[in-house]
Amino acid sequence: MKGEIAESIQGLLESKRRIVVVGHKNPDGDAVGSCLGLYFFLNGRGHDVQVVMPNDFPEFLKWLPGCDKILTYEKNTAQVKDKIANSELIFTLDFNALNRTGDLAEVLENATADFVMIDHHQQPDDYAIATYSDVSMSSTSEMVFHLIEELGGDDEITSEIATNLYAGIMTDTGSFRFPATTATTHRAIATLIDHGAKNSEIHQNVYDTNSHNRLKLLGVALNNLVILPEFRTAYISISQQELDDNHFRKGDTEGFVNYALSVQNVVFAVIFIENKQEKITKISFRSKGDFSVNQFAREHFNGGGHTNAAGGRSEKSMAETINEFITILPHYKNALKNAS
Ligand code: 5GP
Ligand code: MN
Repeated sequence: MKGEIAESIQGLLESKRRIVVVGHKNPDGDAVGSCLGLYFFLNGRGHDVQVVMPNDFPEFLKWLPGCDKILTYEKNTAQVKDKIANSELIFTLDFNALNRTGDLAEVLENATADFVMIDHHQQPDDYAIATYSDVSMSSTSEMVFHLIEELGGDDEITSEIATNLYAGIMTDTGSFRFPATTATTHRAIATLIDHGAKNSEIHQNVYDTNSHNRLKLLGVALNNLVILPEFRTAYISISQQELDDNHFRKGDTEGFVNYALSVQNVVFAVIFIENKQEKITKISFRSKGDFSVNQFAREHFNGGGHTNAAGGRSEKSMAETINEFITILPHYKNALKNAS
């Protein structure tokens, strides 16, 4: 990370501060892991810190050290408003625009505190007085690790910090296999293990806690897989009825889209998930090589993310959304054919 950003964050932390650390809506492993890792670090340095999420996070993360201290705006609305109004510094982690926090965005926009952004998504908004943005990073959790190093905090990495950052890096890199995983990532991971991250236990806690219902839902998803060889594309759809039939719980569909991407010769994979309550179709995009799903999601489905992993949404029904998707695809035929 650039020395001047670390210095500027160092300056902001010179005296003890009231700090709020915020992750994005529908927080994933990287959002929760990076926020909790930073929380324990700042807390260890004597700051008064509160972690806030817009809404609840998946069950498979509910063992992370410190996760019981998180307040969600959805449930603890008044308390969160109060914390934000009284904060001096707000760290926003793992997102690039305040609207990624849903209803919480309005509260953040009205806050008088200074903002610090730590994030690895493309095209970061300019709302922070210190922006640590690096799209080459595997995860925000890895960035928190580098920040701690730059702040001379190596010896302050406790097993709580190590466990949270390890879990964040692990989940965002698909267990260290996505292209943004570098030798530096692995060195960070090695240091985290040295500081008490129990790697095998963390993998088991996150990945080996499938419910029977989740596996049945995976069966439905795989059954619904459609492959379009001429576009090197595969997509999965899951209706609200299918979610209900299999007693869907938050996080259950996490990773399903990777099965579509694992099909031989496929470079573009999509999952459409109907959400009747929010009246939307939620979409996840994944790609291999240089086909940018960030751009695709931004241009067509009100979303964004990274080159190889992005999300978006549509206010149309799932059938209409899929139809729209299929009519758009031919415009990308060459890009998909040549993707590498
Ligand atoms: P997922 O498909 O796992 O929900 O998200 C993949 C990536 O895209 C994540 O980095 C996530 O932050 C980002 N992302 C997901 N949904 C949206 C969205 O609606 N808007 C934007 N800008 N990014 C999204
Ligand atoms: Mn991330």
